[in-house]
Amino acid sequence: MGAATRHRQAFLRNHKTCAFCGGGAPSSTIEHCPPRALFQHRQWPEGFEFPACQACNKGSSDHDLLIAMLARMDPFEDKGNRDGAAEGLMKAAHRQHPELFRNMMMRANQARRANRELGLRPGPGQTHQDTHLANVTDEMREAVDVFAGKLAKGIYYMHAGAIFPGDGCLVMCWFTNTDLLRDGKFQLFDVMKDVAGEAPALARSGKFLNDQFEYKFSLSDEQHLLALQARFGNAFGLIVFGATTPGWLEQHIQRMEDTMAREDGGPFRILQSTVLPLGQRPGENADRAAKQSCSAPWILA
Ligand SMILES: [Zn+2]
Repeated sequence: MGAATRHRQAFLRNHKTCAFCGGGAPSSTIEHCPPRALFQHRQWPEGFEFPACQACNKGSSDHDLLIAMLARMDPFEDKGNRDGAAEGLMKAAHRQHPELFRNMMMRANQARRANRELGLRPGPGQTHQDTHLANVTDEMREAVDVFAGKLAKGIYYMHAGAIFPGDGCLVMCWFTNTDLLRDGKFQLFDVMKDVAGEAPALARSGKFLNDQFEYKFSLSDEQHLLALQARFGNAFGLIVFGATTPGWLEQHIQRMEDTMAREDGGPFRILQSTVLPLGQRPGENADRAAKQSCSAPWILA
């Protein structure tokens, strides 16, 4: 029996239940979240493996690929492809989503408008499309939704030592690296700056990986409420709020969104709820949702 098999068996003996579906399904696989391919040279942070049932593990493999590809976009320091894996990830993403790259491409007039809004100027001899702005597509939104939900549940499992319940509520805001261009930071993290929380150093074999993935997690004393902010290099950031009691977060959502809006945050995407429909926020904030951060462009290179 190989070392990997022994590790898996020991891990699953100690973690018998899937950490992701909240339904008490027995774990049969180890899920790496964030996906290993997101990290340069597949050096992912120690401890970021979670028990998953077959359905939860398989259910996100397409999304994992997109997330790994997107998280490596680094137009500022060009550190997203130190291991040369980016091209392979893009090819694989293209095989899975043949329309993806076409949908990401901006039309000339779109690119002109976006460049003007962001203060980007094409260089001599370049067109507006050469500034490498990309549309955020529906595939990406879906992938980030699935990924953010898993990440929040995984980190909750890690810090609370309990499984996030299947009828709890999770909502999210996310934002692309155009924030870094405009503000030099992910503006929305200011919402969390006075919230106490843990922001651990993440490492493998003594090598710190916070430049690729870092987070701050805060949990209420009774472990009923969670807030997670996560950053993926110079590619994107997200904030998840969660409540283990069904309906609790949902009744405060309007007030929370107003707070986020003061920092330019879009309405929440609903990742899990027994009360609200999933996906984009319904109701009075729906119009604003369409224009807000998760539809901002992305800077590729
Ligand atoms: Zn599961």
